[in-house]
Amino acid sequence: MSAAPPQTADGAPTSNFLRQIIAEDLRANRYGGRVVTRFPPEPNGYLHIGHAKSICLNFGLAAENGGVCHLRFDDTNPIKEDVEYEDSIKEAVRWLGYDWGAHLYHASDYFDRLYEFARHFIKAGLAYVDSSTPEEMRLLRGTLTDAGSPSPYRSRPVEENLDLFRRMKEGEFPDGAHVLRLKIDLASPNMNLRDPAIYRIRHTTHHRTGDRWCVYPLYDYTHCISDALERITHSICTLEFQDHRPLYDWIIEQLAQGGLLQRPLPHQHEFARLNLTYTVMSKRKLIELVAGGYVDGWDDPRMPTLVGLRRRGYTPEAIRLFAERIGVSKAHQWIDIGVLEDCLREDLNERAERRVAVLDPLKLVIDNYPEGQEEECFAPNHPQKPDAGRRTLILSRELWIERDDYQENPPKGYFRLSPGAEVRLRYGYIVKCTGTERDAQGNIGAVHCTYDPATRSGTPGAETRKVKGNIHWLSVNHARTAEVRLYDRLFSVPEPGRSAAALETSAGTATRPASADLEDDVPFDEPTERNYLDDLNPRGRQVVTAYVEPAVALAKREDRYQFERHGYFIADAKDHDANQPVFNRAVTLRDPWAKASPAKR
Ligand code: ATP
Ligand code: MG
Repeated sequence: MSAAPPQTADGAPTSNFLRQIIAEDLRANRYGGRVVTRFPPEPNGYLHIGHAKSICLNFGLAAENGGVCHLRFDDTNPIKEDVEYEDSIKEAVRWLGYDWGAHLYHASDYFDRLYEFARHFIKAGLAYVDSSTPEEMRLLRGTLTDAGSPSPYRSRPVEENLDLFRRMKEGEFPDGAHVLRLKIDLASPNMNLRDPAIYRIRHTTHHRTGDRWCVYPLYDYTHCISDALERITHSICTLEFQDHRPLYDWIIEQLAQGGLLQRPLPHQHEFARLNLTYTVMSKRKLIELVAGGYVDGWDDPRMPTLVGLRRRGYTPEAIRLFAERIGVSKAHQWIDIGVLEDCLREDLNERAERRVAVLDPLKLVIDNYPEGQEEECFAPNHPQKPDAGRRTLILSRELWIERDDYQENPPKGYFRLSPGAEVRLRYGYIVKCTGTERDAQGNIGAVHCTYDPATRSGTPGAETRKVKGNIHWLSVNHARTAEVRLYDRLFSVPEPGRSAAALETSAGTATRPASADLEDDVPFDEPTERNYLDDLNPRGRQVVTAYVEPAVALAKREDRYQFERHGYFIADAKDHDANQPVFNRAVTLRDPWAKASPAKR
């Protein structure tokens, strides 16, 4: 990976507020020249394109500034977490092109210290064991306008708190019997400071620490301390944590004052999370799509997961380009999925070799082409890159063409085949349509034409005659069959579950509930108006048996091509093999042909 800051088209580095903050911190020598960031996923699901934005930011900013980025698994909730997820997260980060080097950490690495620090808070009179029920605690918490009231346990003596906390850890109490809370400010207008819970009892086996612990620290407490222990300088997170920053600062400041953490302390900076149209990003919904069989697993090519995007044909380069192009902002925003698709087009236009595939075949017979004759035509592998070489296509009397390259009654501006019309067979000859053949049901079974032997592509003097239409074809005797999966957007509306009006006004207004609520961590989720599942795109996946040129069958898994006039395709990572080629459509082309035929898109 290059450590140079990305450049705009005119060569100037693009800036964003995080780059500016880091530059200023370096200038002011706030962290002794160090830049240490971290990407802190919870190993409870597969990463998606939103996480990719965060990965590109954290790893990218560190690399640009000669710093390091840590990969830290935030594994504080043993109920939902699993090693399977950890492995997939590591693979996804590596696939994106980033490397954490020796800096792989787990929040659970710090369980001993977090426990000791909690005892420090108790001893300092800044934490207490609360034995209220969650319901009682909720009632005492107050509201945005009314201060909270002290729980009857708030004034427990230090010794009693230490004893109870030890017994919580030793497993004497059932789940939910007590929690440990910080003693901060029940009247604070910031609910996160109204004595947030920092430890709860969970008699659950943890995927790393096994049964060693039955008390687990909560996110807000764990995260800032983990950052400080790892000497993170810039702790970059999404906006819903903005209201948690005072708590973040309070906790580590207290510990630094107690001599338990080293200064300078990390600072939290928030940016707007990525919201992408025509898809969903909440973990709950992604799990539901998989569990409910609405998609074919986490790596279904329609999914916004990184495993899904990869299987769809996305390249790491395209995703990094996307992350850079959308920038970072402090304001909630929706990004059109078209921006992502364009990044892939740009990347693959440069490096994907061209091939011919006929997705919806119709036979074309060249009546004046001698029966049994064959000839070689030459097609460049890349139109702008002669060095990429060329491949051979065999032309013969019977060809496959696309069904929609023929129209009996062509609309105005249709330049492909129709009775009496001329087109060029790409890399071959100009042909003139002479008629059709119909089957017993009256359907067109074949189109007939004649060719002009004087118009062969690549022959000096032959190209002088111009025709507007230019269609692709494959020889019936030489084409191979392939399964082609035509993927499209997962949902058919920009914002699944919500109207366009809601999209305008409420992008990302949901906030993360304060952990003091003591329920399971409720994931970030947008409010919806109707069931988002009703907005699934019924045409999101169509499978056809297509004809492909022989060279395509030699593709290895994950090889990508442009199928001329159709789009970019990838040999499926799981199902493709030389005998049974399987290709996924990553994205269509944006060309006039695609526009003229919306049904193809
Ligand atoms: P959870 O609700 O389970 O915490 P999460 O989507 O926040 O879900 P994490 O594993 O905690 O998942 O996320 C890891 C990092 O990725 C966090 O720093 C988070 O801020 C960031 N992240 C998650 N979703 C997005 C998004 N849509 N855009 C940008 N960053 C995101
Ligand atoms: Mg999270």
